[in-house]
Amino acid sequence: MSDQKLNKVINEIKDDTNPSSKGLYIIRYTGLALFVMGLLLFTYVMFMGPFELSKSSIEDSISNKQHRQAIAQQTTTMQQQSYTTVFSFIANLKPAIEEANETLDDGDRINDYKQGVYRLNIAKQASTGIIDSYSMLYFWLSIGLGCLGAIIFFLPKIWLRLPGIDNDHIYHNSAMSLGTIGWATGLYFIAFYVFIYWYPEYAVNWIKMVDPISMAIKGQPAGQWFLYGLLYTLAIVVMGVRMFIKYRHSKYHLVRTSSVMFFQTAFAFIIPELLVAFNKPYYDFKNIWPLDYDFFFDWQINTFVNSGSLGMFMLMWGIALTVVVVPVLTYFYGKRWYCSWVCGCGGLAETFGDPYRQLSDNSKSAWKLERWSVHSVLVLVTIMTIGVLYTYFTGSSSLLGIDTYNLRSWYGFLIGAAFAGVIGVGTYPILGNRPWCRFGCPLAAYLGLIQRFKSRFRITTNGGQCISCGNCSTYCEMGIDVRWYAQRGQNIVRSSCVGCGVCSSVCPRGVLKLENGPEEGRFNEPKAFTVHEDGVTVNGGIET
Ligand code: SF4
Ligand code: SF4
Repeated sequence: MSDQKLNKVINEIKDDTNPSSKGLYIIRYTGLALFVMGLLLFTYVMFMGPFELSKSSIEDSISNKQHRQAIAQQTTTMQQQSYTTVFSFIANLKPAIEEANETLDDGDRINDYKQGVYRLNIAKQASTGIIDSYSMLYFWLSIGLGCLGAIIFFLPKIWLRLPGIDNDHIYHNSAMSLGTIGWATGLYFIAFYVFIYWYPEYAVNWIKMVDPISMAIKGQPAGQWFLYGLLYTLAIVVMGVRMFIKYRHSKYHLVRTSSVMFFQTAFAFIIPELLVAFNKPYYDFKNIWPLDYDFFFDWQINTFVNSGSLGMFMLMWGIALTVVVVPVLTYFYGKRWYCSWVCGCGGLAETFGDPYRQLSDNSKSAWKLERWSVHSVLVLVTIMTIGVLYTYFTGSSSLLGIDTYNLRSWYGFLIGAAFAGVIGVGTYPILGNRPWCRFGCPLAAYLGLIQRFKSRFRITTNGGQCISCGNCSTYCEMGIDVRWYAQRGQNIVRSSCVGCGVCSSVCPRGVLKLENGPEEGRFNEPKAFTVHEDGVTVNGGIET
């Protein structure tokens, strides 16, 4: 952009009273209003009733005959009532199922997991209100309107803002600097995750809203994971549009954002659902052990083995990804090929989480915690998987006195759900956009070890140009103090760097460059110059 054109744009932007700017601001606020309306309706839908239990809803929800009869008997009084919300309905249904369980013989008892499934299925059948009749309408008025509003809110920035990160008032913005809106958003995300992971029976109206989409894609009604997958994908796509607008000057970010949008939509959402439609195993071809921690669980291996040649291919492909593809691609490109281009967690962090990247703690103590935490999870998942495979091959569920079933369920609860979901995404507005990738992801730890010790990737720094503005450190989502390296002219070779490239994009002096080069010279010595009367010494030695 020529200086003249740039000045014109800057002057127009500064002038909020400019008629065209005014119009664009009106469009923006209209978009915001639509988004808020969609969000409010989405939230309200959860509380909508009525819930009416009938004999047929129990029959349609439970295939096991003993369970069905016992639960039908214990819920006879419920069958004559109408409940205004899912909360009052579940408050009665839960003890009824527990009482039904008490009446069963020991061998027929309903375990905790099954009780949860029954609560969800029965509540879904019992939701007989307006959501049942107009699920698609409510989908469009809540989720659809929210997405549309968000896009209308972002679009005018093409004309209102220059591309790239603008620093104006970022630390005065309540949503993006731990203000009231930021905390409220974080708590909303956390509550959403808690419901989806552990209490999906309360989210039945949301699940019902996406039933028609699920039927269209895979020919089956939706469950909580279909709802979650759809919302996750929409979040990446809508916020990906925001990334296109924000980083429209950078080919790297445009391609990288397209890549995460594509891999999430096709590989993580549509292909696995289509596989189910064709009676094949649900499988995300880009999910890699140890992130995909249940890949070696007995039920998963049995599913692969019993699904013919496609199942065997999936099993081999999954092993090859971990053992061959990860080391080879990470050697050539660093961990960015996965963390910033392919991974679903990374995709969400790079798009949905982008407004929060400046909240990542770049203190030394956070770095220390990160190293301990992420490598501990890698050790834990390795032990857990060894235990699981030991049980698979020997039939014994005890390894060195540890119950491997307990170990796997604790890992699933603590790391797979609480850390990866509730903390990993729920706390974006509080801890920045990569708390999971930084502190918890065992695949990031594995990729990071290769990146640190055997890779061609590094960020080079042209230290003489650095003006110590600190933009790079501020916007590094992995909490790396990039400026510290830049000031010394030292290459950045850090296991945690996900190669997002934002530090390089926000540098006003073009100091930082992401490169894949020969291994020699990757760890360069920082240069300390000392000026003497007779000349200059570099690193206290070489005279120049
Ligand atoms: S150092 Fe730069 S490329 Fe690496 S994670 Fe931080 S901002 Fe992204
Ligand atoms: S953004 Fe560029 S100029 Fe600013 S501190 Fe970082 S490397 Fe130096």
